[in-house]
Amino acid sequence: GRPRVVVVGGGAGGATAARYIAKDSNGEIDVTLIEPSRTYYTCFFSNLYIGGFRDLQSTAHDYGRLASDYGINVVHDWATGVDRDARTVALAGGGSVPYDRLILSPGIDFVAGSVAGWDLSAQGVMPHAYKAGTQTTLLKAQIEAMPEGGTFVMVAPPNPYRCPPGPYERISMVAHVLKERNPTAKIIIADPKEKFSKQGLFEEGWQKHYTGMIERIGPDFGGGNTSVNPQTMEVDIDGEVIKADVVNVIPAQKAGLICEAAGLTEGNWVPVDGHSMVSRMDENIYVLGDATNQGDMPKSGFSANSQAKVAAMAVRGALTGSRVFPAKYSNTCWSLIATDDGVKVGAAYEPTEEKIASVSSFVSQTGEDAAMRKATFEESIGWYEGITSDMFG
Ligand code: FAD
Repeated sequence: GRPRVVVVGGGAGGATAARYIAKDSNGEIDVTLIEPSRTYYTCFFSNLYIGGFRDLQSTAHDYGRLASDYGINVVHDWATGVDRDARTVALAGGGSVPYDRLILSPGIDFVAGSVAGWDLSAQGVMPHAYKAGTQTTLLKAQIEAMPEGGTFVMVAPPNPYRCPPGPYERISMVAHVLKERNPTAKIIIADPKEKFSKQGLFEEGWQKHYTGMIERIGPDFGGGNTSVNPQTMEVDIDGEVIKADVVNVIPAQKAGLICEAAGLTEGNWVPVDGHSMVSRMDENIYVLGDATNQGDMPKSGFSANSQAKVAAMAVRGALTGSRVFPAKYSNTCWSLIATDDGVKVGAAYEPTEEKIASVSSFVSQTGEDAAMRKATFEESIGWYEGITSDMFG
């Protein structure tokens, strides 16, 4: 029969890989995509939804065309384990799916105990909103229901984590909403990191658009020593207890649990060979996106999509002998600070024996004029349309 590829996770990495393998192999490869959700809400632009710049529906995508137009077997279930000797993936609903090559792109899970007082059972009270969907709508509703002059606290994550500028774009969007609806409200960030992505750009923007609303408490002032109490809605930042109205806890992160179950992790992440995204532990398994230790690349949807194309080409080459070109990657992370005030950072990458290395990079500058910032924002809208059709057809 035809060689079989199984892809676990229908997000930025997995959906792209499944689609490219099915599309470019002209039916020579049997592709199965395992993904529990029928609707994928992109984390990218979820902050814009919080800020009122997108509606939720515009961030929702389904797997219909991957099945109908590309002949991919879409299985809505959880993968619970991988038998690497038998080359099968076990499903939560029972049974297992055999593979010749397996691609894992399960995204992130949270490191237990990383924020004292918080665990997954508290996510309905203190949302992370770091997987999009109901978590995002909950956080948005909480922000809009804040009492006049209330307090929003974000517990920011330590490196490395999904979307380096994501927490700070979120702060910008929260400030945008509160400035309109609740201008005496306060925003506090407890941050364990010395510095963060596009910091100069965000701080310039916060000063300009949201003067006096945002206070960031970095590690020098105890921002790395934070605990929360979901019962009382209190946040303790290095001994100073704050009674908050909304607490957005973004915990430390690790590779999606299936990677650990498959025995592919080293520490919190999966080591891969950047020439093809193949696991360094198993030559029949490729791992993409946030779950990987991807060298200089940030954990972003753009990165996962870029890696998926490299892996798809390598997998097709291995199974059908099609030509394989040298791996090249790229990434851009756009962030919206205020209406029409967009910024970006990005780079091109190539693999070395050791890691995926940055070969050139660019970043928006402070003091840019409004026309340029608007053009940068508009570029991000074009990117969103492009990546989502690259993922879902
Ligand atoms: P995901 O896209 O998360 O896909 C993983 C999929 O795997 C999920 O659908 C999940 O249901 C499924 N899954 C997990 N475990 C299993 C299992 N055991 N069995 C079956 N399926 C499983 N990136 C950008 O490029 N630009 C942005 O502007 C941007 N903004 C962001 C803003 C926020 C607030 C956040 C949180 C993230 C943002 N990102 C952005 C990052 C981006 O969302 C991720 O980097 C990207 O989704 C990673 O792709 P992935 O394939 O690794 O994981």
